[in-house]
Formats: sequence, C-alpha cells, structure tokens
Amino acid sequence: MFNINNFNYLTKELSDIRGVGKKTLNILNKKKIFSVLDLLWRLPYSFDDRSKVNKIKDLHIGKLQTIKVKVLKYNFPRKRNLPNKVFCSDDSGNIECIFFNSYEGYIRKILPLNNITTISGKISYYKNTYQITNPSFVSTDDTLILKKHNKYNLSEGLSNKVYNKIIEEVLKNIPNLEEWHSNNILKNFNNISWRESVLKLHDPVNIGKSERDFYRRLAYDEVFSSMLISSEIRRKIKKIKKEKKIFNQKYEKQIINNVNFDLTNDQNKALIDINDDLKKKEKMFRLLQGDVGSGKTIVALMSAINVIESGYQVCFMAPTEILARQHYTLAKKIYPKDIKIYLLTGNTALKDKKIILNLLSENNDNIVFGTHALFQKKIKFKKLGYIVIDEQHKFGVKQRKKLSDKGGKNCDILLMSATPIPRTLIMSVYGDMDISLITEKPKNRLPIITYSKAEEKISDVIKFVQKQIKLNNQIFWVCPLIEESKKVDQTSAVEKYDFLKKIFPNDVQLLHGKLDDIKKENILNNFLKQKYKILVSTTVIEVGIDFPNANLVIIENANKFGLSQLHQLRGRVGRGNKQGTCILIFKSNLSENAKKRIKILKQTNDGFKISEEDLNLRGFGDVLGFKQSGFKNFRLADPIINRDLFILAEKEIKNIEQNNLSTAKYEYLLKLYDQADILNDII
Ligand code: ADP
Ligand code: MG
Repeated sequence: MFNINNFNYLTKELSDIRGVGKKTLNILNKKKIFSVLDLLWRLPYSFDDRSKVNKIKDLHIGKLQTIKVKVLKYNFPRKRNLPNKVFCSDDSGNIECIFFNSYEGYIRKILPLNNITTISGKISYYKNTYQITNPSFVSTDDTLILKKHNKYNLSEGLSNKVYNKIIEEVLKNIPNLEEWHSNNILKNFNNISWRESVLKLHDPVNIGKSERDFYRRLAYDEVFSSMLISSEIRRKIKKIKKEKKIFNQKYEKQIINNVNFDLTNDQNKALIDINDDLKKKEKMFRLLQGDVGSGKTIVALMSAINVIESGYQVCFMAPTEILARQHYTLAKKIYPKDIKIYLLTGNTALKDKKIILNLLSENNDNIVFGTHALFQKKIKFKKLGYIVIDEQHKFGVKQRKKLSDKGGKNCDILLMSATPIPRTLIMSVYGDMDISLITEKPKNRLPIITYSKAEEKISDVIKFVQKQIKLNNQIFWVCPLIEESKKVDQTSAVEKYDFLKKIFPNDVQLLHGKLDDIKKENILNNFLKQKYKILVSTTVIEVGIDFPNANLVIIENANKFGLSQLHQLRGRVGRGNKQGTCILIFKSNLSENAKKRIKILKQTNDGFKISEEDLNLRGFGDVLGFKQSGFKNFRLADPIINRDLFILAEKEIKNIEQNNLSTAKYEYLLKLYDQADILNDII
C-alpha cells in the first residue's frame, strides 16, 4: 500500500513549508495556492538563464548576465536620493553595482570588501562604465546563482527569486508514490514515474515540451482520473436496485396517434433505450443528447407515460417557467384524458398550489411540470418513479450526482441536453451516465439558411426584417456579449432597442438579464402570442422554447461567440416547418478564424460536427459554455493535441468496467486531482 505520510506532503498547507512566511503565504493564498499540489500544477512560462559566468569585457548590454567579481570600493553618499555604489572588477574590466533603496549595512554584508562574489542582473552601460542596477542575485555561494531560474506568473509582492526557492524546497521533498498504472499503460510513456514527471515539469529546460513523456504521462493521469471518477459514479449508481416498472406501452401507442408525425429512427432508438432501462431492476441514469430541434421532448413524454402506466408518478423539470409551460401544454394536448397533468410555477396561485401538492402526495396517476426549483422545494410524492430534466448541460458531475439521489431508489432519471459535445470529451464530461444520441433531424425540417453581413450594411438587414414583418413572421435580434459584464451587455441591447424602435415603433420589445423573472416571462409570452414582432435580447433566452412563428434570428457582433454558441442561438428559429434564416452581423476586418467560423456555420446545421470544429478552432477554452458550470478544465491535457491519450484512457476505463476490476490502486491518483471527495459522499 501507499505510504500515506508520503502522500500527505502533497496536501500539506504551505505555512508548513520552509521559506514560506506569513506575507508570502497571504500572497500565495490570494492566487488560490493553498497546498503543495497547487504549487506543482502551476507551470513556469519561461526562465532566466544565469548559469554562465561572463567576463566583464564580453558583457551584453541590456541582457541578464552573471559575473564573478572582486569587491574593490564602496561609495555611500550622504545625500538622499543618490544611490549607493559598489565598485567591482574581474581580470577583464570594471563594473559598478548601483543600489537604490538599500542600506549601507546590508550592502556591506552581501558584498564584503575584497571578496569574490557572484552577481547576476541586467547590464547597462553609462559614461563608459558597465553598470548593474539593483542586481537580482548576489552571493558568495555561486551554486545558488549559476543555474536556470524559472519564471512564473506571480502577483505583486512575490518575486520569482522567492518563489523559485519555495518550488525548489518542495521539489526536494516530492514523495515517490507507488505506481498506479499498469506496465501496459506506462510503456506508452517510457515508464516514467509520477515523481520523475513532476520534477521534469518544473525543470526549466522542459518548458513548453508538452510532447515529451513526462508531460504526456501527467496529462494522461489527469484525463484518466476524470474519466475514472465518472465511471465510478456510474458503477455505484448501477448497483442501486429498484422496483422494475411494468407496462405494455398502452398509452405510448395512443400518443403517437395524437401527433402528426412519425418518430425518426434515432428517436425510436432512444425511446427503446429508455423503456428498457425503466423495465430493468437497476436505476436508470441516462442522458438524452440531441441537437436543438431534434425532438427530445416527445421521447421524454412518451417514456414518461409508460412510467405512469406502471403506477408511478413523473416529475418533469425545465430551466424556465415558460419552457415548463410549453411542455405542460404539449402533454395536455397529446396525453390521454385520464392522466392527471399539473403545472407548478412561481405564478401558480397559492390555493391551486395547495390542491396540486395534496394531489401529488395522495395519488400516483399524475405528472407534474415545473422548473428546476421543483426538487428544491419539499414536495411529497406518493410514488415518484421518474425525473426528467430538460436542458441540463450546465450541471457539473457533482450536481448531477446529487440529482441521481433525488427521488429515492425507485426513481429513474433522464437528463436532456441540446449541447452536442465533441467525441473526445464525451467520456470526461458525461462518463457518469448512459447516453442516447439523437443525431438525425425530423424529416420535414428545412435547414436554417445562414448569411453574414458586415455591420455597415445594416440597412440591408433592416430591409430584410421589413419584408419578414410584412409576411407576418417574427424576429429575434440577439445583442452581443461585448464583455463578460452584464452591464455592458445590457447597454448594447438597450441601444439597439432604441434604434429599432425608431424604425418599427410598435413592433419591438426588449429583454435582458436584469429584468426580474416575471417580467421576462411576460415579454416572452407576449412574443409567443405575437403581440409584437421583434424581440431584442441579450443571450438570456433559453434554447428549448418553441417560437413557431419566429423564423429570423439576427446575431450581432457574431465574432464574439463561439461556434457552438452561434449554432445554439440560431436554433431558436426553424423548429417548425417554416424556413429559418440566421444573419450573422460582423464588424469588418474579420480575422481568419472568424471567416472559418462563418464558413462552417453556412455549410452545416449538424451540431455534433460544429462542436468538433469548435474544439479545433478555439481550443478547449470554453467550447461548450461550460465555464459557469462545475466542469473543470484540464490543467495539462488538451483534447486536440492529446486526442490519443483520451482514447487510451477511454479504452482502459472500458476494460475496468467490463472486467469489473478493482480501482483501489487509483485512490491517490484521484486525490491528486481533488476528485476523491465526490466519490466519498456517494450514496
Ligand atoms: P428539442 O430536441 O430541441 O427539445 P423539441 O422536442 O422541442 O426539440 O422538438 C422540436 C419540434 O420538432 C417540435 O415542434 C416537435 O413537435 C417537432 N418534432 C419532434 N419530433 C418530430 C418528428 N419525428 N417529426 C417531425 N417533427 C417533430
Ligand atoms: Mg428541448
């Protein structure tokens, strides 16, 4: 087994580390560096080379250089503001060391007269003399100086000199942890150990060498551990036994007669997956993933009715009230009359709320629609058997894990997400769930036509809008995310609203994040009812809502959005049979990257393809808008550069799952990546 004492060094608080005083500790903590591990994952971005001693006559002015000199003479002027000077020489020439803000006593101490001293700093040249002002390193012990010194991104008050010392101290004590990977895996990295890899990571000569074994091993550790944690959660959830749901799809068959379309193959497949899970004695924890408009709702509603047939209740949650209401209305329309269907929102009158809550706690023949707030409230269900959660992609693993516990052991769980995700990332992001994919769009769907326009040509866009209004169509006008700040967002939307109001006095409304929820709902409802034609908004509108009459979406400053986001935004139109159009407005002087993005959006309506391209173009940064969620970015691994490592890790995880192998040996790997805590509080 591992020696826990060795491991504990890594989680040690920094106040226990030599060289870390109170002041330094505060600065480090401010940078979110609390433990030895936090230090290790911060990489140097460059280094100063002080490893060579130069002769004074060969010094390069303006460069960082190291010299070995004899101290000849001091000059400590009694006048304020004049620097102290120390005159030194080697056998090739003379140099002056200039000190601002240093005391005489200190200088005498670090540069003792007649001694040979090593000095390192930036060289200047003034009045025919070499100078070195406030040298960064001065010592009679040249081993302290004659090496390469890493440069880290530090905050004010902390010097690289001090930081390097701390890192050196830490690296000296890095424990040798017992290997957790098999030989088979390790041979991919030339058998390099974890410790060795970390040491190399901080060796200046290796800066930027992400293709080397030490780096790839650590990147693999990171990817593998994220997948492992998800897989462990999945295995644990699968062990939960529930009562099987028994049904003959009696109602389900009635529903399909109440809609005027056939399910696509992917919808059918997903429904079969879900029904099979419902019938099993293991709890379902499944993700239904499909692009915007791929028809997830109907699949969820059909599976839900099977649950009701089997004598259980269903709780169906959406991110906004308006979306919950849409699902509710649809259920009312297509469900058989004997099924009880309720809607619980912030607007539900208290009296009705009481009645509904009472019905939910006493009967099991019902389904309730509402927002995510449904499970925060203490609602009592008589016999809850199924939770459906729509548009959930912003939940992280931890939040999902909590969800799976909701409703008790007999409760199956279906999450739905319209955010397609690149193949490489699926396991790391959604490895805790079983996944059903809908990649195919309903047959009658016309692909959205995408245009791009330079900002100067806004009059063309206005003409187009006028035409659409004459045809009785509605328009989304999405304003840019100029900065992360909501305030700026809002200003730009308000300005656009004022501008459009002059052209279309009775047809424009404004929606932004600062409005309270009830106002927002009202504006959206009035848009649905076609009380006005143009909705100017920031990105606040949820993607899931069906506005059957809206067929044009205009996105301003479109280069500020990522590909996936643009695709999501344009998905607000073209969900019915109408031809949808998207106009991307750009500032002129497009970057190459922006041009590529327009081209891709014009070429394809396939969200999965777009997510792959997004990953390629933008890097991992914020491909999916995951920044706000609990989803962690990788520190070393890069899904594009290290695609092979993701594949390798996925294979290994599948091997563990299929052969039911013990994962005890990975305990410390999980701790290294701060993920063990999720597992501990499972079930
Ligand atoms: P999403 O997957 O984005 O949640 P929805 O479930 O809201 O998509 O479906 C979008 C629209 O497509 C709805 O108006 C729905 O009635 C319709 N729809 C769903 N499935 C089909 C199908 N197989 N054929 C035709 N239209 C469909
Ligand atoms: Mg939806």
